[in-house]
Amino acid sequence: MTSLRAFTEIVGADHAMIGADTARWAQDWTGAYIGAPGVVLRPADTAQVAAILRKASELRLSVTPVSGNTGLVGGAHTTGGVLLSLDRMSAIREVNPRARTATVEAGVILSSLQEAAEAQGLIFPLTFGARGSAMIGGVLSTNAGGSNVLRYGNARDLCLGLEAVLADVKARDDRDMNRADAPLRPAEDAVTIDTSTLDVDAAIAAAIAAVEARRAR
Ligand SMILES: Cc1cc2nc3c(=O)[nH]c(=O)nc-3n(C[C@H](O)[C@H](O)[C@H](O)COP(=O)(O)OP(=O)(O)OC[C@H]3O[C@@H](n4cnc5c(N)ncnc54)[C@H](O)[C@@H]3O)c2cc1C
Repeated sequence: MTSLRAFTEIVGADHAMIGADTARWAQDWTGAYIGAPGVVLRPADTAQVAAILRKASELRLSVTPVSGNTGLVGGAHTTGGVLLSLDRMSAIREVNPRARTATVEAGVILSSLQEAAEAQGLIFPLTFGARGSAMIGGVLSTNAGGSNVLRYGNARDLCLGLEAVLADVKARDDRDMNRADAPLRPAEDAVTIDTSTLDVDAAIAAAIAAVEARRAR
């Protein structure tokens, strides 16, 4: 592939694969969908993802992301294009027990996030049979549900925001840990209003003022 050198300069020779070295990504375990990636690239960070998209755009090559390859509907396969594997971007950057949030990279395996949350006395409720292989990027892309979906919602409901590289190569970061529909805060952050001396309207106004004051902190 003539563009291999250009991609190798971005991700390093060990993380740009062609030919037989792409076999691991060419099909899922069902064998129902078989691709032949022109090149498999394994970026280490967002900057490398952006550089890959810029180069692929210049070369007019398609780019298909792949995470755990558990989707089983052919969504993570390409023939001739760039297969972008996020598996190296597997850092759990932070689990914040007070805010009950986690900041993780796209290639974090679902069960690893569950374990990291459990280590802090929390749960990450999204779960399903392929949790030992599926990655956060894949579960968000497919808006996975799983066996806790009725109580906690789909993957998208559990996501406060994304840092994403778009097809036009603009990196977008809309993470907002104070979003109005953010998960409930721990008990020590809860707002307590004494309603015994207030009517309903006054109690609501007091609650809104307290929440706004907390957000402003
Ligand atoms: C045994 C088993 C049980 C399952 N049970 C359930 C269930 O109960 N409920 C349910 O909802 N689903 C279930 N699923 C499906 C599950 O939701 C998907 O397999 C999973 O979400 C895909 O994650 P993945 O990391 O393997 O993604 P992949 O299979 O690698 O990719 C899936 C799609 O997402 C895209 N993608 C991947 N990563 C990114 C990224 N970083 N950025 C943008 N796009 C990306 C790919 O291009 C592809 O189109 C099950 C699957 C299996 C195998």
